[in-house]
Amino acid sequence: MLHAAAMRLAAAVLPGAIARLPNTGSAVYLTFDDGPDPEITPWVLDQLSAHGAHATFFCLGQQAVRHPELLARIRREGHAVGHHTWDHPNGWRTADRTYLANVMRGHEAVGGHLFRPPYGRICPFQARAVKKHFRTVLWDVLAGDFRPGADGLQVAQHVLLHSLPGSIIVFHDNAQSFTCLRTALPAVLTGFADKNFACRSIPTNVTTL
Ligand SMILES: [Zn+2]
Repeated sequence: MLHAAAMRLAAAVLPGAIARLPNTGSAVYLTFDDGPDPEITPWVLDQLSAHGAHATFFCLGQQAVRHPELLARIRREGHAVGHHTWDHPNGWRTADRTYLANVMRGHEAVGGHLFRPPYGRICPFQARAVKKHFRTVLWDVLAGDFRPGADGLQVAQHVLLHSLPGSIIVFHDNAQSFTCLRTALPAVLTGFADKNFACRSIPTNVTTL
């Protein structure tokens, strides 16, 4: 697991990457990776809507072309969309040219200026190339919803305990995470409301600051 300090370090050494947004008042930034998924993404959108919350969806290109109506709904409901490659390669284990082609194919399918590398793993050369076109968004709070057997309430407690104003929090709208997410997300949304934190989408013109 890459915890908050590690992700801030990663953001510091990766050109143009951000892991948290400072000076944003009481805003926190929920993000959902690996969708859109026809079962899970609509449920997530309904939850966000019920709590007056906004988020950012880092979508896979191959999922976006399968479910364009979900991509349209995400945007229509006021959320931000970022891209997350075509099919989730690991930048540390993929040749630069192959990786960057995968990034561009994902972008063509999804659109948007924000980019999140799968696993947060991207080589400095790849990051510099990506920076010419996109803003790389990492995170400072990893929910851990993808871990086998993850307990939803424990995940929610972890997120609520570690989130600060400006935090960028990673969840997943994929099948692997849904059992956990079903419990964790409503608890997180309620918990943030109790703390008077506002869940917002990441501004597409965000700067490193
Ligand atoms: Zn991912």
